[in-house]
Amino acid sequence: MGDTKAPLTATEWAARQQTEDHAQGVRDGAIPGPRPAPECPDCGLAGDIHPTYYGWWTRLEPEDPEPLLPHTVPPRQRWHVDTGGSAWNTQDDEPLPMAVCQISHHIVCPRTERPDLTPWLTARTEANRLRAELLEGRQAQDDQDGTA
Ligand SMILES: [Zn+2]
Repeated sequence: MGDTKAPLTATEWAARQQTEDHAQGVRDGAIPGPRPAPECPDCGLAGDIHPTYYGWWTRLEPEDPEPLLPHTVPPRQRWHVDTGGSAWNTQDDEPLPMAVCQISHHIVCPRTERPDLTPWLTARTEANRLRAELLEGRQAQDDQDGTA
């Protein structure tokens, strides 16, 4: 975990904000630096470039053929665009009824590896893998001991 001590000065707050913004940008699959081209550097497909509230950019999939219903999109992948053109990711917030959203191109780019969209399922699967290995080991030991 990072430093949990509260910043005391404006400089420390600015540093904390920069660290938090960077972490969110990485989590969101956002793009730092100057405004990127609409075309993905990996596959060449064009997306809609929007600034984020933390000063990075996101390349959103075009809304065609139709906007997505947020409850069909995994948490942390639901993007919305405000009237000024800035995009934000609703993270783990529950979607509002009748809302629509967009997704970032990086989760559907055909030329890059998709990030883990359901980390809790991945963690649960890993825990079950370990439990299954322990069960197999115990059953093998029971068979060897003749106690099964
Ligand atoms: Zn791409």
